[in-house]
Amino acid sequence: MSELSKLTIAAARDALRKGETSSAEITADCLSAIASADALGAFVHHTPDIARDQAAAADARIKAGDAPDMCGIPLGIKDLFCTKGVPSQAASRILEGFNPEYESTVTSKLFDAGAVMLGKLNMDEFAMGSSNETSVYGNAINPWRRGNDDAALTPGGSSGGSASAVAADLCLAATGTDTGGSIRQPAAFTGTTGLKPTYGRVSRWGIVAFASSLDQAGPMTKDVRDAAIMLGAMAGHDPLDSTSADIAVPDFEAALTGDIRGKTIGIPKEYRMDGMPAEIQKLWDDGTTMLKDAGARIVDITLPHTKYALPAYYVIAPAEASSNLARYDGVRFGHRAKLAAGDGITEMYEKTRAEGFGPEVQRRVMVGTYVLSAGFYDAYYNRARRVRALIKRDFDTVFADGVDAILTPATPSAAFGLGEMADADPIQMYLNDVFTVTVNLAGLPGIAVPTGQDKQGLPLGLQLIGRPWEEAELLNVAYSLEQSAGFVAKPAKWW
Ligand code: GLN
Repeated sequence: MSELSKLTIAAARDALRKGETSSAEITADCLSAIASADALGAFVHHTPDIARDQAAAADARIKAGDAPDMCGIPLGIKDLFCTKGVPSQAASRILEGFNPEYESTVTSKLFDAGAVMLGKLNMDEFAMGSSNETSVYGNAINPWRRGNDDAALTPGGSSGGSASAVAADLCLAATGTDTGGSIRQPAAFTGTTGLKPTYGRVSRWGIVAFASSLDQAGPMTKDVRDAAIMLGAMAGHDPLDSTSADIAVPDFEAALTGDIRGKTIGIPKEYRMDGMPAEIQKLWDDGTTMLKDAGARIVDITLPHTKYALPAYYVIAPAEASSNLARYDGVRFGHRAKLAAGDGITEMYEKTRAEGFGPEVQRRVMVGTYVLSAGFYDAYYNRARRVRALIKRDFDTVFADGVDAILTPATPSAAFGLGEMADADPIQMYLNDVFTVTVNLAGLPGIAVPTGQDKQGLPLGLQLIGRPWEEAELLNVAYSLEQSAGFVAKPAKWW
């Protein structure tokens, strides 16, 4: 077999079980694809030795007839996941030199299932960003380009390295995390599939915390079937994460019948934003027609508090971040500033944090500290929490009215150029998350599915939002949309 790094998880699994290829071969093909893709800035720590050992072990398991779905599948792992003995820096200078003594629950589960780690993937620092431009490693680059223009485009963020690596076929799939859209927006920008599970479906243990009540890990894959397979291996109750839910993990792949006849799909009017590009509106309309033609019932719905979601998110997420990031003090993890004679502990904290955190992280820590300060706690943090409850109630109401899934755009635009937002107000960057943050605030599952291309050939995605814990049903609607959209385009190789 050739071009093995281009395989989907499902195709690789089937070929491995039939003995048509080996994990060692697929892994070697991925490693050589990675070796010639430095220009993408996707992989930031390479673990070829671990990969080869894991692949050999997987091949032995497959030969012995013990082959879970993920057995022998080479993956990229976002730098936010702690991986034992392997740098896990959250793309921050402050975690330079941090090689965890333990493995995150998600990577443990994947490795127990036989998956292979190729290396760690670029991301925005502490997962704060929408373009991968806040990373200490430098930018990750989108393999897609605008027509014949060779300007470098963002793969989105914060899981930009994951999206770039999957889109460029450097790995079969990757892990991502999503606090406000960081799986779904990069997936939409790169023509890949990204699923944020229900809050509590996947353990957060061993994943560097950004905003603990919003963070959730999920799969970033080449198609919907792969998202179903990989979620199955990542999900499940974990006593080490008190917010991990003790509910059964269904067979997500078995739910993919593509039959959505009689399902009710809601189209929320509040997502029709002022100034929305015509191409995004058309994509959304086309997606609606596809689901209707597949036999779903389309209903207009209202989610009245949507307009407050972005401000509420940008109060709650920084508040939790400022608290979570207090642990980076120069004592326990990673970087410590060089101190001058006479410096005390305060200078050590100040210098370490000033050197170790980039500007976006510093901004979030300052905003978060401010909204939690005694004088402003009620005005900002408590008000944002109340808004969050109302946003959740909006969704509860439409689901109680019989809506099975909600269709929206995933992003307000196609991938933009790196540096294009450099001089913009930070709020311009935050607007990227306008369609995705509501899902995190309400703890719901959401998936981005590539559905079309813009005039310049860039991929565009739609988002489907499901009922809590009903990822299986959500994946099936996404599968139907994927089949109707028939998105098969790939970026032309330039790297
Ligand atoms: N772009 C959003 C932010 O900067 C979301 C990031 C994320 O989901 N990790 O906070």
